[in-house]
Amino acid sequence: MSFSNLIGQDTLRRSLTRLLIHDRLSHAVLLTGPAGIGKQSWGKALARSLLCDNPVGGEACGQCISCRQFESGNHPEYFVLQPDGQSIKIEQVRSMRAGFHLLGGVKVCLIKQAETMTAEASSSLLKILEDPPQDFYFILLAEQSGQLFETILSRCQRYHLQPLSRDKIKDLLVKEKLLNADKASMLARLSRGIPGRAYELAEDGEFDRRREEADNLALSLLSENNSAYHLLAKAASLAERDDLLSFLDLLCFSFRDGLIMKFCGNDHLLIDPERPFLKESNFALARLEDIIRLINNTIYELTATNANRRLLMEKTLIMIQRRLIQCQE
Ligand SMILES: [Zn+2]
Repeated sequence: MSFSNLIGQDTLRRSLTRLLIHDRLSHAVLLTGPAGIGKQSWGKALARSLLCDNPVGGEACGQCISCRQFESGNHPEYFVLQPDGQSIKIEQVRSMRAGFHLLGGVKVCLIKQAETMTAEASSSLLKILEDPPQDFYFILLAEQSGQLFETILSRCQRYHLQPLSRDKIKDLLVKEKLLNADKASMLARLSRGIPGRAYELAEDGEFDRRREEADNLALSLLSENNSAYHLLAKAASLAERDDLLSFLDLLCFSFRDGLIMKFCGNDHLLIDPERPFLKESNFALARLEDIIRLINNTIYELTATNANRRLLMEKTLIMIQRRLIQCQE
């Protein structure tokens, strides 16, 4: 994996290449971004460039002994630290430090989920960063920088990886997963710009079934016959789902299709416009926009707060149904 094989992140690519060419890379680099955004791929590409014996324009040559060792997963001066159980412990940092050869040559340590370092492990790493041996580099990966010690952050060159455009993800899925353009477009929309998430969706054998399930839920919410009892039971079973977030994404997608159909007509739908949910409903635009906002807000509350899942799902379903019924008035 080298920078030129990686998609997007143009600012990061330019910056790392420039620093590598001018030999100005800091001893510690921090890459942050959500799971699946590509932190590991970029971290490994950076490690490979640092370790390469004959880099060209900041890129690893792919030919030298070091590059070959790296590709085979056997580089003696490349070390990966990752959580042992829930956290990265001080013993791991110590054994990493002791494991490196003392003689010259570049050494790189990639720290995955750096935010899981215990306080002791962080202090131990900090000691190394305060007086880093020459040619010793650390690449830290974390979802958010706020979870790391300020003293460590202050010693890192920091980069936040950005979501990719839908077109880039779509191209990636067509090329790598051999999807047709329509399915790739749909998954690109659902991926929120995160390539790892797009791959997961592409490999999800249950995807079409879950999509249909989301449509069916939307359809049943249209019915005024939903008793409070039924709504609450639905909310309870949703709250139990392991895939609740991605299911809500799909539910959002069903309503979005309703919106697209109303706005632009059937031709712009990526999936069958004859689906029962779309056929049976007579939507009002403003209400649909409202529902989509509502579901997105629920997704946000689920990811960013400690909201009670069951109560949140009850509130969400009741509010969706109320708006849907208003839609038809
Ligand atoms: Zn090389």
